Amino acid sequence: MDFLPSEDPGAAEARRLDETDPLPTLRAEFHVPAAPDGGEAAYFAGNSLGLQPRAAAQLVNEELLDWARLAVEGHHHGRRPWVGYHELLREPAARLVGALPHEVVAMNSLTVNLHLMMATFYRPAGDRTRILIEDSAFPSDSYAVGSQAVHHGLDPAETVVRLRPRPGEEHLRTEDVVGRLEREGDRVALVLLGGVNYLTGQLMDIPTITKAGRAAGAVVGWDLAHAAGNVPLRLHDWDVDFAAWCSYKYLNGGPGAVAGCFVHERHVRDASLPRLSGWWGNDPATRFAMAPDFVPVASADSWQLSNPPILAMAPVLASLRIFDRVGMDALRAKSRRLTGYLADRLAGIDGLEVITPSDPAWRGCQLSIRVADAAGLVRRLADEAGVIADAREPDVVRLAPAPLYCTFADCHRAAEALAALLR
Ligand SMILES: *Cc1c(COP(=O)(O)O)cnc(C)c1O
Repeated sequence: MDFLPSEDPGAAEARRLDETDPLPTLRAEFHVPAAPDGGEAAYFAGNSLGLQPRAAAQLVNEELLDWARLAVEGHHHGRRPWVGYHELLREPAARLVGALPHEVVAMNSLTVNLHLMMATFYRPAGDRTRILIEDSAFPSDSYAVGSQAVHHGLDPAETVVRLRPRPGEEHLRTEDVVGRLEREGDRVALVLLGGVNYLTGQLMDIPTITKAGRAAGAVVGWDLAHAAGNVPLRLHDWDVDFAAWCSYKYLNGGPGAVAGCFVHERHVRDASLPRLSGWWGNDPATRFAMAPDFVPVASADSWQLSNPPILAMAPVLASLRIFDRVGMDALRAKSRRLTGYLADRLAGIDGLEVITPSDPAWRGCQLSIRVADAAGLVRRLADEAGVIADAREPDVVRLAPAPLYCTFADCHRAAEALAALLR
């Protein structure tokens, strides 16, 4: 099947859009997997695992070389001394999520960070025990909140409240979440929602829901796995209590990459907060005094436990440098152009339904489509057209034109392939 006949006017239009876009693609800075025909794949799975920045290998290799050359001396005398390596990620990560530098730390993985945050911020007391999540929460988040309830001797079936869209609707309405918090907020200890829903791609109204949750007396945390590097965030200004995100999706930090965590300034100086502690959360001034008493550093670093995995952090550093260079605002503008173009193309195809919000203000780059045989379609897209998407049981295909490396030509190719396969 030939999806790209050379006289195809759609292909010429996509090429023109690529050539004239104010933010030219940075595709050349990434390794793009091959398609079956030997050319480059059209990669729409960056919401699952982002592509490898070409700069990552050098940064990892430099740490391997310093380890070989210096061994233990690398902690203080490496080209990027390991004792402070995590600090290299702090400012770019803070810019990425709209935080002050001392509100952000790169550490662990996402679910671990959610647990560390809940160990501090989920403090059920009296009638205020409930945790509000969305019914379509990512399974790991459901397991995490359920196990936190058990950890406090509570019944998860009563403690975890799952927010559902209205019957017949795909998305949670902000007014419904806010209304629920107004009515039942005095029993809610924690609101923990996904900033961008992994399944539908809906971008939540983070500032409005945060405000409502805090007004109800609850702590408000956000899982930003699908939001970080996808949409602009202003976590500090929005008064979010805490947030956590992984670095291997839009952030291109590599499989299982070191994750990120945000704790609002009003909490980071509060030494009385209960937290699970380790030596890397201690004030660096006394960290190596080997004293038995924990003195938390007055930053999000105080939630760090262990000395960080340098080899796993190096690709995240490579990736954050790219985001820093481009800036989230320019990237979001390009993302809206790319996703808008793909959405328009998908709208003309019979046999699929886009379940992502049609208003660009309430989605990131991902478009989710409902089709009969999602897994089969994803396989054929890859095998026959070199279009990499992913399927989520039972009937959703997700396509994420990540704006750093996806092009209008990729979107055209995906739309042509979908139209041909669904015909
Ligand atoms: C990807 C994702 C996770 C994955 O968690 P890890 O701890 O990084 O394996 C968790 N929650 C959400 C919402 C996700 O999208």
